[in-house]
Amino acid sequence: MAKTQNAASPVTAYVALGANLGDRAANLHRALELLEQSPGIEVIRASTFIENPAVGGPANSPAFLNGAAEISTTLRPRTLLDRLLEIEKKLGRVRSEKWSPRTIDLDLLLYGSQIIDEPGLTVPHPLMHERRFVLEPLSEIVPNVVHPIFNRTITDLLKSL
Ligand code: ATP
Ligand code: CA
Ligand code: CA
Repeated sequence: MAKTQNAASPVTAYVALGANLGDRAANLHRALELLEQSPGIEVIRASTFIENPAVGGPANSPAFLNGAAEISTTLRPRTLLDRLLEIEKKLGRVRSEKWSPRTIDLDLLLYGSQIIDEPGLTVPHPLMHERRFVLEPLSEIVPNVVHPIFNRTITDLLKSL
């Protein structure tokens, strides 16, 4: 049988977690729990949570707590994104103006070494390489993973910020 017809084999993917409303640490822990409980998702490891000032959003937005997680998943990218958005909803995420405060934000950073550019889904996440609050926790768990567009490691990207 052709390899492409086999049941989906797991892909290693990376998710950024951020919260700047409510009990931020509790929200991040809960999001990791809900990820782990999702069919087709296994959380391999998670970074520590790092506090960062809010950037780009409304003035005086509360500071963020940010983390990153490595997952192994049999879900396709779109299904995985839908699951991330579902978990955000479950944790009380309300979308208002761009970059406004949120109880939880889950971004799909990398999905294997795939490059995806579809309406509503861009992978690698288009801003990950310029965000310290993403690269720092990510480099803590996987310093040597390579960004498939820039062909540079996470550590390398972090250093050049
Ligand atoms: P940013 O993307 O700059 O971090 P944000 O996380 O605040 O901003 P959201 O309001 O959470 O943006 O997401 C808006 C939309 O972005 C989502 O509905 C989703 O369809 C789309 N999107 C595209 N690519 C991705 C990705 N890799 N991860 C998460 N969402 C994505
Ligand atoms: Ca985000
Ligand atoms: Ca998001």
